[in-house]
Amino acid sequence: RPADIECRMVVIGSGPGGYTAAFRAADLGLDTVLVERYPTLGGVCLNVGCIPSKALLHAAAVIEEATHAGDFGVEFGKPKIHLDRLRAYKEKVVGQLTHGLAGMARQRKVRTVQGEARFVSPHELEITGADGKVQLLRFQQCIIAAGSQAVKLPNFPWGDPRIMDSTDALALAEVPKKLLVVGGGIIGLEMATVYSALGAQVTVVEFMDQLMPGADKDLVKPLADRLKKQGIEVHLKTRAATVKADRKGITVSFEAAEPGQKPALESGTWDRVLVAVGRAPNGRKIDAEKAGVQVTERGFIPVDRQMRTNVPHIFAIGDIVGNPMLAHKATHEGKLAAEVAAGEKREWVARVIPSVAYTSPEIAWVGVTETEARARGLKVGVGKFPWAASGRAIGIDRTEGFTKLIFDEATHRIIGAGIVGVHAGDLISELALAIEMGAEAGDIGHTIHPPPTLGETVAMAAEVYEGTITDLY
Ligand code: FAD
Repeated sequence: RPADIECRMVVIGSGPGGYTAAFRAADLGLDTVLVERYPTLGGVCLNVGCIPSKALLHAAAVIEEATHAGDFGVEFGKPKIHLDRLRAYKEKVVGQLTHGLAGMARQRKVRTVQGEARFVSPHELEITGADGKVQLLRFQQCIIAAGSQAVKLPNFPWGDPRIMDSTDALALAEVPKKLLVVGGGIIGLEMATVYSALGAQVTVVEFMDQLMPGADKDLVKPLADRLKKQGIEVHLKTRAATVKADRKGITVSFEAAEPGQKPALESGTWDRVLVAVGRAPNGRKIDAEKAGVQVTERGFIPVDRQMRTNVPHIFAIGDIVGNPMLAHKATHEGKLAAEVAAGEKREWVARVIPSVAYTSPEIAWVGVTETEARARGLKVGVGKFPWAASGRAIGIDRTEGFTKLIFDEATHRIIGAGIVGVHAGDLISELALAIEMGAEAGDIGHTIHPPPTLGETVAMAAEVYEGTITDLY
């Protein structure tokens, strides 16, 4: 059967992994096709993930700041929310970025094809367009970047628009009076922050014994305290058990995570429920077996340090290859896969992948966490600088944060870091670089940081570890 499209390289999926891979492949001279089932490029991150959530969190931060300003003598009136304008702002931000991508694809002569791709053989894909038309594409090499989607808990009535996943929540159909968020991870808490700022009364339930499992407990505490102060109710070790939708609303009952215990909260009725309990890879939806590509039970595609699957001319990158499911991991892997496909000798050598929760305060961490270091029996030392001693944090009245650096006791090299506080996400990159470069406490502590900045707390934490600042506590 003759192919409708022939190419050297095809990339399935146009998220941060896919577009980066396609652009890099084209820059390296490979004739490249990028297949995306949706009309716009950018994947989850640009369309229904990182970017729209941060646009809405910006609005939430402005509301919080304006409300807070009363404490230092600047009073604004009660915020008036024009939901349609806020939605338009979010869509403008997304549109600017996705159109930018389309332009960058054209510039590089990357051919984009809209449709859903499935393998039919190790060198062929069938692409089904929105109109049902099927095209056969023949390729020499392929990068699978088909991403992930929200986990849909089976006991929820998903046909009801009041039951939302993160995509529905970002659509901002309305601000419910009462919102239940199931899942206290990054996505759940970011959306809780947005909806609370817009006026919803928000309750969060989390199955584990802390919010944002994965981050050190001490980093999460200032956030938990502030959520409480803002009136966001949080219940840990709690699982949503039964869910019933009727005219009155969504009635949910709960179970304690530990069997035999009483749940932390009684059943209740909410106007809307957001389920944010994690994301599942799309590996089982592309007929990978027809190309001989191995996929795990959960839908992940195993790859080696060059992002190759078990089939040497087929690569996989991003959310579909495993955790952490983060955009910057996907882009890093996308670049690597394209370079290896073009014949460069490279492999995955990123030592650290930073994580950021854009809540208020933000939480950011990178490298080994303190919990993990202790569990692994590593001999580590910790330098912690409280923002209550930072001139800048005092000046902006946000002293709840702290900066924590984790050092290998034998070498005094930094192996991990965690920051909680406003702009923690903007501060963490310096520490990722420090870990990548094998910096020692002295390198960080002796580097001159401009005062008064929050960045100073990084050098100060290193000095606390070195013992050159001793009078903090
Ligand atoms: P995706 O972005 O998932 O893209 C995959 C693309 O493939 C999609 O466009 C999909 O339509 C397409 N596709 C799938 N199957 C096919 C097929 N068969 N044929 C054609 N096309 C197909 N990460 C961060 O680093 N920072 C953040 O602040 C952040 N915030 C987030 C907020 C939310 C609400 C969510 C949901 C996620 C967030 N993430 C964030 C995670 C981030 O979005 C993902 O890690 C990232 O998008 C993964 O990129 P990817 O290229 O692997 O796949």
